[in-house]
Amino acid sequence: MPFTAARGFREQPMLFVGAEGMHYIEAGGRRVLDGMAGLWCVNAGHAHPRIVEAIRTAAGQLDFVSSFRMSHPAAFTFAERLAAAAPDGLDHVFFSNSGSEAVDSALKIARAYHQARGDGRRTKLIGRAKSYHGVGFGGLSVGGIARHKRDFGPLLPEVYHLPLPHDPGRMGFSRGQPAIGAEYADALEALLAVQDPATVAAVIVEPITGSGGVYAPPKGYLERLRAICDRHGILLIFDEVITGFGRMGTCFAAQAFGVTPDILTCAKGLTNGSVPMGATIASGKIYEAFMAGPPDVVQLFHGYTYSGHPLACAAGLAALDAYQNEGIFAQAAAVAPHWEAALHALRDAPDVADIRTIGLLAAIELTPRAGAPGARGTAVADRCFADGVLVRGAGDTIVLSPPLIITPAEIDRIAEAILTALRAEA
Ligand code: PMP
Repeated sequence: MPFTAARGFREQPMLFVGAEGMHYIEAGGRRVLDGMAGLWCVNAGHAHPRIVEAIRTAAGQLDFVSSFRMSHPAAFTFAERLAAAAPDGLDHVFFSNSGSEAVDSALKIARAYHQARGDGRRTKLIGRAKSYHGVGFGGLSVGGIARHKRDFGPLLPEVYHLPLPHDPGRMGFSRGQPAIGAEYADALEALLAVQDPATVAAVIVEPITGSGGVYAPPKGYLERLRAICDRHGILLIFDEVITGFGRMGTCFAAQAFGVTPDILTCAKGLTNGSVPMGATIASGKIYEAFMAGPPDVVQLFHGYTYSGHPLACAAGLAALDAYQNEGIFAQAAAVAPHWEAALHALRDAPDVADIRTIGLLAAIELTPRAGAPGARGTAVADRCFADGVLVRGAGDTIVLSPPLIITPAEIDRIAEAILTALRAEA
């Protein structure tokens, strides 16, 4: 089983047979309040009727089209709709099947872009500590979590990492973007002083570190990264697999922060989690570099059998309709102050070491147990689950990312379950 201790799971399975709106449903009929939107995915809530219907219709209409010299109209319609929803200037879409593939596609596009411009020396990639960019060898290499890489080396050569822009002493209990810390971006300039900037293809960051523990970028940090990349002709990639589709109250975090990357990756909420799909969205500048070549030469020799799969495009179009017609991003923005207040109210609960909230994301960091570091998150998550609330344990941290349709009462229910669990453990 993925990322799961399979032997332990056999003894205590968490099995669901259904899902609806804010809830998962167990075989016995018990409903579990979903504080994770599945896995940062189901932004419009589970089994959204519009999306279910679109998938049904599409499945009966066109099952599959090869991605070699063929396509289907919905792939173009969805690409256009996505480009329109993306930050200005990002208007060309490449489809894949997951966040990992969207990231590897982005890294390949970055290198191939420099190659297409006759600047093939630019091959180095720069990631950041604590970042998660999926499990492909590209995403794993630029990713910043050592445990994920441990058994799989050697990874890509010539990959470097920036530090996480976070200082627990100065930036604890943050609400939104920390006011201090923009200067962490200068680590990029320092790295480029050692690595000839003319050999660097791209810098990739999650605008908000997600799986690594929900760390918001300090005010001015992303702007400064952008400026340094511009100064040196380096592409900036935002991995918005988690932050995409409304978590910040805007379609993408890039729009909330007012910083536009050259390439943006997304997945998860792209289809509201309903059908596997990833997308890599690139700027006109990148597109034009590929289009400038001779007409009979494939400039970006890359793709997947299921790129732009009809079912995924139908699900994605319906998800965008749901998000836009039902004002779901605005709902997220409206409920965010309650989210922030309810979670920060846990500050004095037993063993709380830090609480970080931004948009509809949160992390609650707990004091590790002596002799058993990294076990507290799962222990608290298990207690919450027994209480009918799904939260995610990651090391000694609880991470939260509910469907954006969550109500204030449901937020209170999640906070209460966590408080009860922490008191029971104290
Ligand atoms: N990038 C980010 C920021 C992610 O959070 C994830 C998944 N959690 C991925 C990439 C990988 O996505 P997938 O699991 O769909 O391959």
